[in-house]
Amino acid sequence: MPVINRLGRRALYGLAQSRRFQALVQRNEVLERSAHRGAGRYLGGRTLEEALVSLVRLHGEGFDTGIDYFGEMRTDPADVDAATRQYVRLNRELGQLDAGVNVWVDLTNVGLDISDDLCRRQLARIVETLPTGSRLQVRAHDSSRIDRILSLVTELAGDGAPVMPTLQANLRASPDYAARLIEARLPVLLVKGAHLEPAAIAHRWGEETDVAFLGLAHQLHSGGVELAIGTHDPVIREALLAALPGIGVEMLLGVRTQDARDLLRRGQRVRLYLPFGDDWLRYWLRRLGEARGDWPRNQS
Ligand SMILES: Cc1cc2nc3c(=O)[nH]c(=O)nc-3n(C[C@H](O)[C@H](O)[C@H](O)COP(=O)(O)OP(=O)(O)OC[C@H]3O[C@@H](n4cnc5c(N)ncnc54)[C@H](O)[C@@H]3O)c2cc1C
Repeated sequence: MPVINRLGRRALYGLAQSRRFQALVQRNEVLERSAHRGAGRYLGGRTLEEALVSLVRLHGEGFDTGIDYFGEMRTDPADVDAATRQYVRLNRELGQLDAGVNVWVDLTNVGLDISDDLCRRQLARIVETLPTGSRLQVRAHDSSRIDRILSLVTELAGDGAPVMPTLQANLRASPDYAARLIEARLPVLLVKGAHLEPAAIAHRWGEETDVAFLGLAHQLHSGGVELAIGTHDPVIREALLAALPGIGVEMLLGVRTQDARDLLRRGQRVRLYLPFGDDWLRYWLRRLGEARGDWPRNQS
């Protein structure tokens, strides 16, 4: 899509939040196919079967993985139920592999945008079938939902579920969220954040967010939680690996792949995020924006 190729990070993050744009692409088969080809490097496949083939290949190369079923902001209970059933199927397949694969979930894929209660019930179904040795990694969504997400995750952990939330360094409130996660003694994946937020709520991309990332990593580590960093930023990664031995590294499939291989060669374990399904467009738009690496002056 030539027009897309001219857009910067901010515009692409904005498009990723547009349901109209998504519908437009999905209605046009030629457009959809061409965009999907462009997105291929970031995707585990359209189907669970394709994703499992990718997963086995990555484990053969020495990577750990976390697998996700695409879907966000579902508002139809039937769609939520279908997504949950897909997770149960995924868990069953992973149980056969015995590979310690983590399962990722965006809570808006399983009912958060309908009600906490519905979401809680879907999570119970997913956790119940999670293979032994796997964790449920929970995506961070935009700032309007993060408080409810962390409450549900903390509640699940209180019931003994092996959950790992994601914390976005760009949010100004994240030091408070980090304190909550330290108190709950939860393992945490720290990322920069991939949502457009007003300046009052989030730091600017670039230096401000990077400094916040470093501060939060130190806060979480000194608070005694198990920490993994989800970043492709070599400066941040190397600084933190040197300062905080024992932390984990997670990366997205298709992003700075050579860096991921180099890390493995150095003896650093790397867990790759491997998403699959038909609802891949928003994800791809965010990745395209990040591949541009441009930092707008104003974020709001
Ligand atoms: C495992 C994992 C889980 C995540 N989960 C969430 C989540 O739940 N919620 C959320 O908001 N965000 C999530 N993210 C995304 C994260 O917030 C960032 O948006 C994303 O990782 C890009 O930031 P960065 O730290 O790599 O730094 P950046 O500064 O964006 O990038 C660092 C370097 O990597 C290069 N790079 C980055 N992306 C690409 C790309 N697509 N193609 C080519 N080069 C690239 C850049 O050009 C730059 O050189 C997750 C990230 C990871 C790794």
